[in-house]
Amino acid sequence: MGEGGFAKRSRVRGSHRESPSQVSLRRQPLIRRFAPPSPTREKRRTPVRPPPMMAITREMRLDARNRPEETKMTELSRSPKDATPSVIAQQTAMLNALPFSDARDFDDAARGFLGTIENAAITNPQGRTVWSLEPYGFLSADEAPPTVNPSLWRQSRLNMQHGLFEVVPGVYQVRGLDIANMTLIEGDSGVIVVDTLTSIEGARAALDLYFRHRGMKPVAAVIFTHTHTDHWGGARGVLEEDALATGAVPIIAPNLFMEHAVSENIIAGPAMLRRAQYQFGPFLAKGVRGQVDCGLGKSMAAGSVALLRPTDLIMATGERRVIDGVEFEFQMAPNSEAPAEMHFFIPRYKLLNLAENCTHNFHNLLPFRGADVRDALAWSKYLGEALRLWDGKAEAMCGQHHWPVWGRERIGIMIRQQRDLYKFAHDQTIRLMNHGLTAAEIAETIQLPKSLEGAWHGRGYYGHIRHNVKAIYQKYLGWYDANPVNLDPLPPVASGKKYVEYMGGADAILARARTDFDKGEFRFVAQALGHLVFAEPDNAAARHLLADTLEQLGYAAESATWRNAYLFGAQELRQGMPKAPPRPPMPRETLAALRTEQLWDVLGIRLNGPKAEGKHIVLNWRFSDTGEIFVLNLENCALTYSEGVQAENADASFTLARATLDEVIAKLTSFPEAVAAGKVQLAGNPMRLAELMGLMDEFPRMFEIVEPKRAVVG
Ligand SMILES: [Zn+2]
Repeated sequence: MGEGGFAKRSRVRGSHRESPSQVSLRRQPLIRRFAPPSPTREKRRTPVRPPPMMAITREMRLDARNRPEETKMTELSRSPKDATPSVIAQQTAMLNALPFSDARDFDDAARGFLGTIENAAITNPQGRTVWSLEPYGFLSADEAPPTVNPSLWRQSRLNMQHGLFEVVPGVYQVRGLDIANMTLIEGDSGVIVVDTLTSIEGARAALDLYFRHRGMKPVAAVIFTHTHTDHWGGARGVLEEDALATGAVPIIAPNLFMEHAVSENIIAGPAMLRRAQYQFGPFLAKGVRGQVDCGLGKSMAAGSVALLRPTDLIMATGERRVIDGVEFEFQMAPNSEAPAEMHFFIPRYKLLNLAENCTHNFHNLLPFRGADVRDALAWSKYLGEALRLWDGKAEAMCGQHHWPVWGRERIGIMIRQQRDLYKFAHDQTIRLMNHGLTAAEIAETIQLPKSLEGAWHGRGYYGHIRHNVKAIYQKYLGWYDANPVNLDPLPPVASGKKYVEYMGGADAILARARTDFDKGEFRFVAQALGHLVFAEPDNAAARHLLADTLEQLGYAAESATWRNAYLFGAQELRQGMPKAPPRPPMPRETLAALRTEQLWDVLGIRLNGPKAEGKHIVLNWRFSDTGEIFVLNLENCALTYSEGVQAENADASFTLARATLDEVIAKLTSFPEAVAAGKVQLAGNPMRLAELMGLMDEFPRMFEIVEPKRAVVG
């Protein structure tokens, strides 16, 4: 790897320091084995079953050994714990099972390094850090600690590579400055930017890094490979104001880009963002007992995001564009990793870019944050089609996450293995489903074939075979397993209380759970204690034992997303939910990119149905700048709209620019202020609009997940 990458760091988190040479990532296969747990430790960790209260005290005492004496017991029980012997044994088994001596990924991830920003640190104009790899210095150790799955440790170290890399002369990638990559393709006079990272600050830093090493060039075009925010959020950072205003720089995206970027990120945004905390672990401390990676990259990026409307949509496979003298051949891949996604091949550079459909992990068919379930069969077919179109032509293949692969043969092998990974998961899930197995039973039964198990890029760091098969089941059969006992079960609190009663009360459950915890039966212990915590959310012993249990599941998990989910669950049980600042209003650029129908859709999902009982409100809208007219209609507690018409019986009529409405929603002005400024003409009773807006919910940034909801939602 190059000098400026991870190797530059000499400061390592914690008390000790390492020299730069010790922290180099290059060629450090993880071939060392864990030492088996020492007899002393085993002895300490397998005690005769103590009575309930003693067990907790013992746990605290173990932790207290390295802590100041005056530390309170309550604080001790809030700290992350050691890995238990059963988890250490699982980690050792994984070290023995996987080909850790194969270090080609480390070579590939470092190949072509040109330079970087120290620690990949990016700040916003106010000096706030939006991205930095400095807190991940602990990953300099080549040997995985007992609290991290060694396969995940390997991936976490690979994802530490950061900077600008040459893929082939004329094609560059900025990696490690965000969870996603920016690919830069040089044209005759400018540069084509493929994907713009999550934040405007990140995109600007990435482009500056490129300019520093390759010289200043105009941005000739921006390409969005797909609809996820980490691929378009920073677009404003690579486009100058005048380019945006004149539309002189094309923004190219797959068909239906806007619809899906909006429906995936805005309609379900509040629920998705909270759930995403469990997927990515942004509130976990980074460290060997905390967040180490996300599988696809390090973490979610902070910073400012704005959605820009594409100016040129790719509609069909086989379409070509010549951009700044460079020919692109496109392949459509809708309903794969994203609902709108595309791949491309560049003959001039013999470069294949498979966006996010052929990455160095088994991707998600349904991420934990929640999404439309993805189509594994279609995904596999697109990879097969890419082979038919370009196998043997591409000499380098890159994606929009992770590192490239070079050489015709290796590219062919990787695409075939990824094609078959998704096909195998799909077909075998359906086969088992048609034998009558339910989703949970399929997850327990299915095993990847040896040829895919041993391929590093097939490992489930982000998606995982055990949750991807549930997504496939959901796609075809939905949430219901057809057993009527699961048709209308009591919700968590009510059923929790009955379980606790049937199981003989909290103390009996805790006593059994402690025994099973010591035996390493973490999955069932979590299930049982989950009922207890929902029945008795203030039962501290239950919360702490469940936290300890989730933590062990997290330590053992190979999937980064599983680890993050388990460890964040443990943290919230111990410490409660983190405080999050209030949600900022939607940026004006994003609003401006939305069609008016989409704005009404967003308004509709905020309507509080019960509050709207018996109300009928009809409002006419006329937008002077776009020429659109709408009727907005509230009745039967549902908000609907009709385009192209006006209602004769409307309660009120408003004429204004769409841009004015955007400013109101972005909280740059208020509706009464806009009226006072003469920006809105109105007729009828404008208070009916105020009445409608009074029926809208504001969504909380945080809500309980591992324990009962404290707020009553109706
Ligand atoms: Zn992505």
